[in-house]
Amino acid sequence: MTTKDPTTYADLSQGRIRHIDFHIKVDFAERVLDIEATYHLDEPLNGSFFLDTYKIELKEAEADGHALAWELDEEDEVLGQRLHLKDLNGTDTFTLTFRTSPEARALQWIAAEQTAGGKHPFLFSQCQSIHARSVFPCQDTPSVRFTYSADVEAPEGLRAVMAAEQVQGPEGSGMFFFQMPQPIPSYLFAIGVANLAFREFGPRTGIYAEPETIEAAAWEFAENETKMHEAEKLLGPYMWGRYDLLVLPPSFPYGGMENPRLTFLTPTSILGTRGQVSLITHELAHAWTGNLITNAMWRDFWLNEGWTTYAESRITEVLEGKDSHDLHDAYNERNLTKLMKERLGMDSPQTCLKLPAEEKDADAFTTIVAYYKGCFFLMECEHAVGRVRFDAFIQKYMKRFQFQSITTETFLDFLKSELPEVFEKVNVHQWVYEPGLPERKNRPHSRLFDEVEKVLKEYGQGNRPTKTLVAGWHRYQVMSFLNALPRNIPVEDCRYFEEILDLEKANDGAFFSPFYVICIRSGYQEAMPRIEKFMGTVGRMLYVLPIMRTMIDTDWSRELARPLFERVRDRHHQITIKAMDGLLKKAGL
Ligand SMILES: [Zn+2]
Repeated sequence: MTTKDPTTYADLSQGRIRHIDFHIKVDFAERVLDIEATYHLDEPLNGSFFLDTYKIELKEAEADGHALAWELDEEDEVLGQRLHLKDLNGTDTFTLTFRTSPEARALQWIAAEQTAGGKHPFLFSQCQSIHARSVFPCQDTPSVRFTYSADVEAPEGLRAVMAAEQVQGPEGSGMFFFQMPQPIPSYLFAIGVANLAFREFGPRTGIYAEPETIEAAAWEFAENETKMHEAEKLLGPYMWGRYDLLVLPPSFPYGGMENPRLTFLTPTSILGTRGQVSLITHELAHAWTGNLITNAMWRDFWLNEGWTTYAESRITEVLEGKDSHDLHDAYNERNLTKLMKERLGMDSPQTCLKLPAEEKDADAFTTIVAYYKGCFFLMECEHAVGRVRFDAFIQKYMKRFQFQSITTETFLDFLKSELPEVFEKVNVHQWVYEPGLPERKNRPHSRLFDEVEKVLKEYGQGNRPTKTLVAGWHRYQVMSFLNALPRNIPVEDCRYFEEILDLEKANDGAFFSPFYVICIRSGYQEAMPRIEKFMGTVGRMLYVLPIMRTMIDTDWSRELARPLFERVRDRHHQITIKAMDGLLKKAGL
């Protein structure tokens, strides 16, 4: 690879990490990990080696029994500090001893009171996109893949899990042993330590959660073994051994994180209705598109998310039927267009699939464009050659690039060699390299979405829908409706919709988030205590950031935004805090 990755200090001409052996001690009192890590490089190295770090306290560096000279450069707010190991003398192995910071961006230490059980603390990591460097010094770019082993010493009574294979070790020592035999990029390193119970779904699938939530969680996702079979039909053999889930505390900033073998999951997905199983479909599909074939740089992010959203839509079509699939599609297109028009601008380079080269903050420049525009592009490619040929191509692609990190251009070259007609029928350059959303030739038509449109139109003419009319709505119909309501509606209508849609009972963040946005815009001030409660209990950024943005943009709530943030701040993950604080600062608050 010739292009420099702006999100890392690593210099790949020096060599690459091939394997790491970790010894990890978990310290809940200090909120730190004490780690000794032995690094194995792909070949012996003379001279310097650069690693990414973020607030790591390095204690010792050693190679071949000798102390290594090292230097930590000045800290950059986004990239952290470059660790410069000096004078490696023809060795391919070195050992670092270090301690993470309580401010490590990838680690969240949850106090016992904030867990479901209330008695034991909970630690979990979130390394994507560039936060693995706050857990261990690494070449923190998705283009470097390594295997690892780890032993983890956890406090008594708690269980350690990792996105790796758990292996037997000496009994009763409070130690847990893991190995990751498949090479992964640093952002897929993951660890969790908590009071955890386990339930098995099938030979390859199961779920970890606190004992208090395990039953509900196990019921919600009981169909995962079936899902595995459908995913394999589309994408080829599952290469990672087991596929388990880990249910996290509510502050987890995302819906799910596709850590290999062990998807980390928001508890907001446990609805008691199996209504959010498409989230698991998405995370499972990442086992192929993202984890097996990884974007070489974050500007190629659409290779991970566009492909995964496409696979998700195909599996949803099989498992939930065409109506549900088409509704998801229409909902996604509406949201994508709204984001492009209202926030990014149709001409913004951020609406290209291949993102601009210079951005170093990978979290800040990746949006849903990668997901939906990427998916729609692949649907167009499928349409150009027909499903049978495209499906054969998918399996070939998975096999050809497995366990590799590739760029958009590598993918396009492969597409051109395998399915040249795609380039005759689809304007590939426009889809990938130009801003905005090209016309979709293969756009499904959604009957269920049309129903919602009709209700919205009638509401615009002064006729409110009846409770009977909306009673049997699909979850995505409710979401589509709330997302498409006018900016301001009478306060009385806020109360009315809350009642007929039974929002309290549904207890679904995907409803509350757009509903609270409308409440704020409409001046429904009575809802503020509930909004604050929501902002203090839910960490999923997809739900809380739109509310924060709306509070900032609305006259009456603008001055309330910073104080509310300060009151709920401690309940949130570092990544969410950074995002909310960023919005407030940008608005001068
Ligand atoms: Zn994803």
